[in-house]
Amino acid sequence: MYYIAGIDVGGTKTSLGLFDDKHTLVEKLVIASEPSLGFEDMLRHIDEGLSELLAAAMVDRSMLKGVGFGLPGHVHFEKGLLLTAPNLPTWVGKNISDEATALFGVPCIADNDANVAALAEFSVGAGAGSKNMAYVTISTGVGCGIILDGKLLHGAYGAAGELGHLFVSDSGRVRCGCGKTSCVEAMSSGTGMANYARLRIAEGVRSILPELAGGVEHISAKHIALAIAKGDPLAEEVLERAAEGLARAFYNIYQLLNCNVIVYGGGVSKLGSLLFDRIEKRFYELIPMALEYPMHFLPSSLGDDAGIYGAALLVSPSQ
Ligand SMILES: [Zn+2]
Repeated sequence: MYYIAGIDVGGTKTSLGLFDDKHTLVEKLVIASEPSLGFEDMLRHIDEGLSELLAAAMVDRSMLKGVGFGLPGHVHFEKGLLLTAPNLPTWVGKNISDEATALFGVPCIADNDANVAALAEFSVGAGAGSKNMAYVTISTGVGCGIILDGKLLHGAYGAAGELGHLFVSDSGRVRCGCGKTSCVEAMSSGTGMANYARLRIAEGVRSILPELAGGVEHISAKHIALAIAKGDPLAEEVLERAAEGLARAFYNIYQLLNCNVIVYGGGVSKLGSLLFDRIEKRFYELIPMALEYPMHFLPSSLGDDAGIYGAALLVSPSQ
């Protein structure tokens, strides 16, 4: 009998999950990430959270087989090194696996957060039973993890699967967080959708979006759904554009890697059929071959817990 902890570190909150050796979640805890503390103190803060998690489940630390981390940035998986992390600048360049192993006193292993979520959905979630699957999270950004021939793809520097920055547009009108204008994120993330709506409103397009959101600066995917229900043409245009960006991204995945399962999660994906009916329609227009050899679009079954499940799976893969 042993236990595994899976820790999903975000820019604002960190989720900790304790799993038994059958990969059943037995205890869960969410703490504030406190990025202002800096790397060493943040790691200590997470270690305290781990102690709290173990105490709540009445499990001794000696029963822990290991701890897996999902991190919001590029992780050099073999080295355990965090290469980039816009929301955790003090963590960049640190060997997370080594530093956490030394502090926590148990073997620790780290990977990118979208990669671990992909692993979770593939192993115990909506993608279970598939072999070639991409997990896509659509929220303020667009993240992705790819399973090919049953294996999670890392690539040379751990940066495989950066779907959000695939070039899918040449409109040049909305800037991505990375500074360029052609990325999936600029078309289809919550931020990209809101920025496009604001641009069109500034151009003089009439819409009920500013009124629904209480000001143009507060427009989000949720308001776009509300405005569509009221027949707002701009909201429809914003959503069509977002669906086009994702359909092109999935087209690229199908052509390049021939994945046939897309599992989707993240806040914007909660638009559900409103968004995905449009994506699927456009996807099949782009690639008629898929009518015979289809792509399956499935909502995440683990939701916000995909990160902790997947982080734990790094330590002990499910059979
Ligand atoms: Zn970009």
